[in-house]
Amino acid sequence: PIYMDHNATTPMDPRVLDAMLPYFTEHFGNASSRNHSFGWAAEDAVDKARQQVASLINASPKEIIWTSGATESNNIAIKGAADMYAKQGKHIISAVHEHKAVLDPCKRLQREGYDVTFLEPGQDGVIYAEQVREAIRDDTILVSVMWANNEVGTANEIPEIGAICKDKGVLFHTDATQWVGKMPTDVEAAGIDLLSATAHKMYGPKGAGFLYVRRRKPRVRLAPIIEGGGHERGMRSGTLNVTGIVGLGAACEICANEMQSEAERLTALRDRLVDGITGQIETAVLNGHKTRRLPHTANISFPYVEGESLMMAMKEIAVSSGSACTSASLEPSYVLKALGAGDEIAHSSIRFGLGRFNTEEEVDYTVQQVVKSVNHLLAMSPLYDM
Ligand code: PLP
Repeated sequence: PIYMDHNATTPMDPRVLDAMLPYFTEHFGNASSRNHSFGWAAEDAVDKARQQVASLINASPKEIIWTSGATESNNIAIKGAADMYAKQGKHIISAVHEHKAVLDPCKRLQREGYDVTFLEPGQDGVIYAEQVREAIRDDTILVSVMWANNEVGTANEIPEIGAICKDKGVLFHTDATQWVGKMPTDVEAAGIDLLSATAHKMYGPKGAGFLYVRRRKPRVRLAPIIEGGGHERGMRSGTLNVTGIVGLGAACEICANEMQSEAERLTALRDRLVDGITGQIETAVLNGHKTRRLPHTANISFPYVEGESLMMAMKEIAVSSGSACTSASLEPSYVLKALGAGDEIAHSSIRFGLGRFNTEEEVDYTVQQVVKSVNHLLAMSPLYDM
């Protein structure tokens, strides 16, 4: 089988696994045990990882809070900021095509009396800074806009939004889960106060993530959601997942070193895939902005062909129709609907997510299989008039 679903999760890089292994066995200590060498070894490893993560996003190590993944990071950022800054206002700005891990905390806050404006993208899927500027009010406390969309791969105007938030004195959170490790990320230059990411989208282990919380002035404060031993500057209590953290750190260092060449390689592979498919299937459409996108992601719709049927027809290629998180339901993707897609486009979309270990041969084989399967399904489709 060929794996082309790297927006859902990535395989672990073997170098990441090597870095983690000793922390399952000889270095099993609790990073909070300050009174013996078992604890010190774990603490040193966590310190090193904090450095590796911070340096990938131009933060300082003290600004990194360990979490179980981006879902938790988003929850801490959004609910924690809403709670901490409620006295200054109760208005939050986000977007309709965010991941559920942002939408659901926002909706909970709505039920609790906060006012949330969900910005809408145009057909290109991009949230532009001017939309944010127009939506900011005197009582706005937080803007939460993702860096790159997980389903279509489009990138929002993040540094520009950051500049506006800074200017207006509003906190800026970005869910950068799909962006970090793939593209250059500088929280300082982009005016970001809070940033969520996770290891399993960058060739690290599942169940380990982080939240960047700005400490440089103006310092950001968050009310904790998980309370207990006061770990992570009181913002996230609980014994640290040392192996996961070590893996996350190693994954970040590899991404930092290899990002540029990897992005170039994946962009070329992605374009080969898109050109190969759209060049041979005239009904195929690439969803979202043509160029403002992640190097490894392409979301393509095949009108008159059900996305699910196409996936069944090419079983040995692992891709996604709609989002992996919502594919338990057969509802058309809310993200594509937000881009103005009709049912035909939304029901027939396939997300191709390329990754570190994909080859040109795999891409060529995939193009061949997609073309063959789509033509077969089109020939059977009662709706398609050849
Ligand atoms: N945010 C985005 C944009 C994602 O793509 C995902 C992964 O599906 C998440 C959040 C959730 O991340 P995690 O699985 O680490 O909780």
